[in-house]
Amino acid sequence: MQVIQNTKALKRALKSYKAQNKTIGFVPTMGYLHQGHLSLVGQAKNENDVVVVSIFVNPLQFGPKEDLKKYPRDLKKDQALLKNSKVDFLFVPNEQSFYPADFQTTVKVEKLSQPLCGKTRPIHFGGVATVVIKLLNIVMPNILYLGQKDYQQFKVVEKLVEDLSFPTTVRMAPTVRQEDGLAMSSRNVYLSAGERQQAPKLYRALLEVEKSIQKGALNPKLLQQKLERQLKSIPGLRLDYAQIVDAQTLQTVVNLTKHQRLLVACAVYFGKTRLIDNILLKV
Ligand code: AMP
Repeated sequence: MQVIQNTKALKRALKSYKAQNKTIGFVPTMGYLHQGHLSLVGQAKNENDVVVVSIFVNPLQFGPKEDLKKYPRDLKKDQALLKNSKVDFLFVPNEQSFYPADFQTTVKVEKLSQPLCGKTRPIHFGGVATVVIKLLNIVMPNILYLGQKDYQQFKVVEKLVEDLSFPTTVRMAPTVRQEDGLAMSSRNVYLSAGERQQAPKLYRALLEVEKSIQKGALNPKLLQQKLERQLKSIPGLRLDYAQIVDAQTLQTVVNLTKHQRLLVACAVYFGKTRLIDNILLKV
């Protein structure tokens, strides 16, 4: 595995593979890697000749009161994991050269950035879109891999690539969970032992919605209220949102119709730690 910091050096290194028509799979991350990230890497390995992973804690997607400074980092361990997964290139850009002092361009996917996480994190998806389009311009992958855990991010990036005619396929991989159902996340390390015990209840509450719909409950407003109540009853948890939305538009649904694809999503705080989770289902 080659570890590259410099943008031009990475472009140069990838050029020869492109000239040979080799396919490139790309997995952007913020590091502190876990099995969720590695499942994306595994899929990229299976489907491409060359795999590029990036590790970059992108300051543009953190609000002023968010955890940019204390976001967990362990580059040595990440490097070992990626080497073990037979990744070809690890791109670790340096913040100052990636965003020089006079950097002034941003990209925004208007509608999809607003609901759900966009309400409490108004600058987040603009920051994501900007870093992703910049990384795509550098790596020029055939396939970009993103996780369902950040479903809204996936939808924003999918639209970004479509709207700006970028020649990359965007692929979503399922959420990888701990045995007790908690979605793997770099932020899980912030949880205290007590919070860690409560955290798997998020996923269980989401699955309850699915069960209710299967049993014939078809009033999304009531289902959402029930989900909110259930989440709020978890000790130590503060609810940001719990919503049932159309999986394509991320807009609230008023009536459930047959075969409709839904996203049931929530964001919660345990102390200062913000966790998100979601499930996709078909009515
Ligand atoms: P992050 O490092 O948190 O920015 O995540 C990098 C990529 O890994 C994103 O596409 C995430 O959606 C994905 N990811 C994070 N956690 C998981 C998980 N538990 N299962 C699957 N993908 C994940």
